[in-house]
Amino acid sequence: MNSTTEKRIALISVHGDPAIEIGKEEAGGQNVYVRQVGESLALLGWKVDMFSRKVSADQETIVQHSRNCRTIRLTAGPVEFVPRDNGFKYLPEFVEQLLKFQRVNGITYPLVHSNYWLSSWVGMQLKAIQGSKQVHTYHSLGAVKYNTIDNIPLVANQRLAVEKQVLETAERIIATSPQEKQHMRSLVSSKGEVDIIPCGTDIRRYGSVEPQAARAQLGIDPEAKVVLYVGRFDRRKGIETLVRAVRESKLHGSQKVQLIIGGGSTPGNSDGRERDRIEQIVNELGMSEFTTFPGQLSQEILPAYYAAADVCVVPSHYEPFGLVAIEAMASGTPVVASDVGGLQFTVVHEKTGLLVPPQDVAAFSTAIDRILINPEWLNELGKAGRKCVINKFSWDGVAQRLDELYTQLLEQPVKEPALLTT
Ligand code: UDP
Repeated sequence: MNSTTEKRIALISVHGDPAIEIGKEEAGGQNVYVRQVGESLALLGWKVDMFSRKVSADQETIVQHSRNCRTIRLTAGPVEFVPRDNGFKYLPEFVEQLLKFQRVNGITYPLVHSNYWLSSWVGMQLKAIQGSKQVHTYHSLGAVKYNTIDNIPLVANQRLAVEKQVLETAERIIATSPQEKQHMRSLVSSKGEVDIIPCGTDIRRYGSVEPQAARAQLGIDPEAKVVLYVGRFDRRKGIETLVRAVRESKLHGSQKVQLIIGGGSTPGNSDGRERDRIEQIVNELGMSEFTTFPGQLSQEILPAYYAAADVCVVPSHYEPFGLVAIEAMASGTPVVASDVGGLQFTVVHEKTGLLVPPQDVAAFSTAIDRILINPEWLNELGKAGRKCVINKFSWDGVAQRLDELYTQLLEQPVKEPALLTT
């Protein structure tokens, strides 16, 4: 490889900082994905710089994760949290700062991998300005999301246009599931090149704890039937459906059911409001005695929570991929999930868990009961889940595929850039 095709890459994740704690407002799967991709690529010999927007003066500007992998926080717009729907106007400054960082450090990135539509715009600018090749992962598609929510944000048209433009002009788009690819084709554009490379998970971390040891560690009754939710507090996540489903469960009242709702929130922010709303429903339904909110769960403690659970529920209204499902499966825990998006790809119905219609309280309740009343089947589902993740969703395998794709792209001529739009 000559100097223009050295294994150097910029991962761009404007609003999903790969170096921050996961599980709070607007910090979830994307942050985990970018961090994992970055660290795995560095192990495969890539020099990886991950760019994000600085949101607090306390944050370090550069966080070195390993010898060849670092997060670089650029100052673009106010140094404070900005909801992603309001972030577009700061992107030109983000591009300027990134170009300045390149100049000062004598670097030109031959390849950028952008994440989420905001970063795709940054990637398109780098492609137009300096011929960087672009790979893009959407993480969420506006065209799908806007079908599942009531309040369409002002930025919607802009987002839809940018999402179409990047699909048609990037060197390669990564769909994390066949369902996501199909949505791109049916709702966004028939043009552009799309590869399916799933998200991955750490099969050494998840699956490392025995269920009984996990319960002892977390102080959970060994006899309890544990139903677990892990994720952000966001209406789209469907936590209300889960709470109502557990209330309707036949086991509720007769057996020791325990519902654990794990995830961080900040009082006053949108996730704090959603948590309050869920807690209120829990109280109204008389479920507070057996429902716990342990708050944000660190990546270190999460394997124990998954291992301690009898069933992990992913009740999202829509989910482009859904890392939580494969983390639970890797931990040997069956999953009950909404029959939507990437969950249709990761959860094998009747083999590693059950898929049910989104927002259908009765269906979730029946599915949870079916698994909880049959411990033998529960074990079988759990074992099959772990096997499935080892075969299809381990980070090592996913990083290998990205490495091959990037290497191949670096050897090809750059595609026609998108026209600049601001
Ligand atoms: N997560 C975490 N701690 C929490 C809640 C969530 O580390 O308290 C992690 C979880 O393990 C998963 C990610 O956040 O890796 C959520 O990703 P997912 O794709 O399920 O949902 P998203 O947040 O992208 O909508």
